[in-house]
Amino acid sequence: MAAKIEVARNTVYKAAWLIDQGKANPTLTAMAKLVACHTAVEVVDESFQIHGGYAYFNDYPIERFYRAAKVLELYEGAKEVEKIVIAREILGKY
Ligand SMILES: Cc1cc2nc3c(=O)[nH]c(=O)nc-3n(C[C@H](O)[C@H](O)[C@H](O)COP(=O)(O)OP(=O)(O)OC[C@H]3O[C@@H](n4cnc5c(N)ncnc54)[C@H](O)[C@@H]3O)c2cc1C
Repeated sequence: MAAKIEVARNTVYKAAWLIDQGKANPTLTAMAKLVACHTAVEVVDESFQIHGGYAYFNDYPIERFYRAAKVLELYEGAKEVEKIVIAREILGKY
């Protein structure tokens, strides 16, 4: 989980750094959101599993983390749309 978070963090930082430099890269930005949000879902899913049955009940914050992570793949650019943006760039089709 730590390794995945590190990879996602570095991708986000690179995309953000390029924006700060005035060299925004929409494809990399889409990759950063796709990877970071998917990582959040994977990591919280693993965490949910570790917590076992307790994760299901709202006495613990893990069920809220689960919902909070999943919605990241929907708003501000759904993951399917980000994949379309990335594929268009790689395949050279607009
Ligand atoms: C908590 C929350 C906060 C939000 N805040 C804001 C906000 O502040 N401002 C704002 O403007 N909006 C906001 N939204 C709306 C959010 O941006 C939309 O939910 C998002 O754009 C997805 O639109 P939709 O829900 O209508 O899903 P749809 O567009 O109906 O998509 C449903 C599913 O189909 C997929 N899909 C859609 N089109 C395609 C396609 N062409 N190819 C392949 N797959 C496709 C999507 O990826 C998704 O998985 C918020 C949503 C939530 C849940």
